Amino acid sequence: MSDIDGVAAYPNYRFGLVVRFPDGETSNISEHRMFREAPDPDMLDRELEAWVDIGLRHERPSGAFLERGAVVEQQEATFLHDETWCQAWFSHTSLNVRLSDDDLRADFFRYISRETARGRKRFPDDPRMWTSGLMGAEEIWRWAGPCRCEHCVRREVVKIGH
Ligand SMILES: [Zn+2]
Repeated sequence: MSDIDGVAAYPNYRFGLVVRFPDGETSNISEHRMFREAPDPDMLDRELEAWVDIGLRHERPSGAFLERGAVVEQQEATFLHDETWCQAWFSHTSLNVRLSDDDLRADFFRYISRETARGRKRFPDDPRMWTSGLMGAEEIWRWAGPCRCEHCVRREVVKIGH
């Protein structure tokens, strides 16, 4: 575990799954995961396997991957960076539950600057892509939280929706 501007930063990974259907079509899903400690390779494998298993059974508009005869073409866990927030579906979560709401908001603001800088580095010629991974978090008026509901408390996270 490291820290960024005095806030604990945790290893973030991207879990990715590519499946192939009998007709040759492929589909992929991915999710970012934050770990309390750097996972050893065995732990990372176990977490990825469990995630892939859920992903294959997950019901989508056109049915679960498995029911449609999908086979796993590729699955991988890729280390992204140590960060204070982890990206999810129109929300971000942090493990820094002891920070005040004001400190969390200030840290989230700095996180967005760092994420935008990473986007700028990756896509220097395409400004629309600089904030594409943030799903609207760059617009402060969208922020809801930090949330400390029962569900967040059980997961030992705080969440900002956007
Ligand atoms: Zn919550």
